[in-house]
Amino acid sequence: MIQKITSFFIVTALLVACSKNALTGKNQLTLLPEAELQTMATQEYQQFLSTNKVVAASANRDAEMVRRVGQRITRAVEKYYADKGLSEKLNGYKWEYNLVNDPAVNAWCMPGGKIVVYTGILPVTQNEAALAAVMGHEVSHALLQHGNQRMSQGLLQQLGGVALSVAVANKPAETQNLFLGAYGVGSNVAVLLPFSRKHELEADRYGLIWTAMAGYNPQEAIGLWERMEKLSNGQKPPEFLSTHPAEGRRIDQLNKYMPEAMTYYKPGGN
Ligand SMILES: [Zn+2]
Repeated sequence: MIQKITSFFIVTALLVACSKNALTGKNQLTLLPEAELQTMATQEYQQFLSTNKVVAASANRDAEMVRRVGQRITRAVEKYYADKGLSEKLNGYKWEYNLVNDPAVNAWCMPGGKIVVYTGILPVTQNEAALAAVMGHEVSHALLQHGNQRMSQGLLQQLGGVALSVAVANKPAETQNLFLGAYGVGSNVAVLLPFSRKHELEADRYGLIWTAMAGYNPQEAIGLWERMEKLSNGQKPPEFLSTHPAEGRRIDQLNKYMPEAMTYYKPGGN
């Protein structure tokens, strides 16, 4: 009986929790209010920065590049949302871009626009446009609320679909792990969840658009993913690929999205 009641509440929660994503207009399962996730992200981001080696942008060209690319991607996103009358959907976004000194091939974006790029990914990106493709891809996962959906599923499966505040109060460590796993953060997390194929394709498509609008040639994304896939043949596939699985057809898909992205491309920026 208790089980029945519980599942009734979970199903009700699911029905209530289906929301429309501003960008795609599609319904999705997001149990968690984005504002609560952004608050959690602000705390987790600060904690991450205080326990990792942040490269100061004032003294380092790579860190400066990460900030510059981040700002240009952000301006592109803001323009796109403004043109579609969606600016209020970005309320609560306080963009931050940091480079950390860490050999892992990795990058991520938490809710509210909290971005980290690892120095280990720079030999793979090789140029600024390819870095823009990586950051555009990460920003898309955040805007498309993919992490929210993963976090929602995790809370449902592991903690019975309780509210985030309840989960944080009762199981702080588990909730933190879920959060870090859902956003692909760090190597200390027990389980790094891979994004689904559908989420990867969505992030690729919008990532190319931000890259182009930011004034970078989106075609650099092709070389980037080719270099990434070569790495996956090595002994230890990069962290980035364990959360962003690549498969043979990714390049074909990127080529399919390219004409759309190229309509947004103005060398030097919009
Ligand atoms: Zn991805």
